[in-house]
Amino acid sequence: TKHLAVLTSGGDAPGMNACIRAVVLNAERAGYDVSGYLRGFNGLLDNERITLNAERMHNLIQQGGTILHSARCEQFRQSAVRKQAADNLNAAGIDTLIVIGGDGSFHGAHALKEHWPGQIIGIPGTIDNDVDGTDATIGYYTAIETAVSSIDKVRDTADAFDRVFVVEVMGRHAGFLGMSAALASAADFVLVPELFEDASASLQQIKQQIIQRQQSRGPVSYVIVLAENLWPNGVNALCKQVADTTGLEAKPVTLGHVQRGGSPVSQDRILAVKSGTFAVDLACKNISDVMVGIQNDRLVTVPLEETWQNQKTLGQDACKTALHLMNQRYID
Ligand code: ATP
Repeated sequence: TKHLAVLTSGGDAPGMNACIRAVVLNAERAGYDVSGYLRGFNGLLDNERITLNAERMHNLIQQGGTILHSARCEQFRQSAVRKQAADNLNAAGIDTLIVIGGDGSFHGAHALKEHWPGQIIGIPGTIDNDVDGTDATIGYYTAIETAVSSIDKVRDTADAFDRVFVVEVMGRHAGFLGMSAALASAADFVLVPELFEDASASLQQIKQQIIQRQQSRGPVSYVIVLAENLWPNGVNALCKQVADTTGLEAKPVTLGHVQRGGSPVSQDRILAVKSGTFAVDLACKNISDVMVGIQNDRLVTVPLEETWQNQKTLGQDACKTALHLMNQRYID
């Protein structure tokens, strides 16, 4: 019998378990033996592998995290190290490797081809939604929900005390999570990489808005959503600059790793089930070196190489609409 292995790599995301479940159920039904490697590519190097079967998948779809654990594996960038991984895969008799992760993980998986003739299929799983070739990634929808429910709470206390808050959300170098969270929570201002020009221009806009509102309404609350890795010297620096510019105290809230956890929302579970099922279909058809993507509600295959070559960014139309709603100036 053929042997299929699955692993989760890079930043963990809610819905990875739902995807593992879909892969295992479908592969078992298609007659494969199924294994899971632990801790991303580290499992390939250490031969940390467990047997997976349908029984083990029971009651798993709603669980956050990943039962296979995830990790980075910096040494996987070395060819000699990947050779070791290939030898281990051959020794274990693996025919197909399914990698659930982000574009970095797909880069690593593709590089394995140099030494390993087996079949490689990627499934995008990251809260950042920053993988080119797919409209959505597993975990993104849950992270939006988590960020929005947190910002709603920040808004309550901001209103009660007429305070300014800056909420930092994840997203790596893309603004998907920040923009979605800001839109859905009706934030007053959003700072994401795709729309960021310079700090002083943004501070001026923030000051103008706050002053206008104070003039018409008196004391106001104001919530700014800030994407991580964007503001020079971070969220605390922004708070201080807002305070210096407006004379109002600004408080930082960093949502951090809370955004990576929790039970996946239905959209992520459904995406995980569709993607995992499609990946096993491709395995049965001997298709290799591709990522499973979803584009305009259709499942597609994207060459792995294309997934990291271009930085996927927010659509300009969506940005303009969003900023208009927030009375924020669009900088072309
Ligand atoms: P996320 O963006 O959600 O964190 P990711 O998969 O993009 O997910 P990375 O840390 O970029 O996360 O990559 C995960 C792992 O993939 C790395 O730790 C490394 O093992 C492997 N990897 C990344 N880039 C390469 C590369 N150029 N060559 C070989 N392996 C790589």
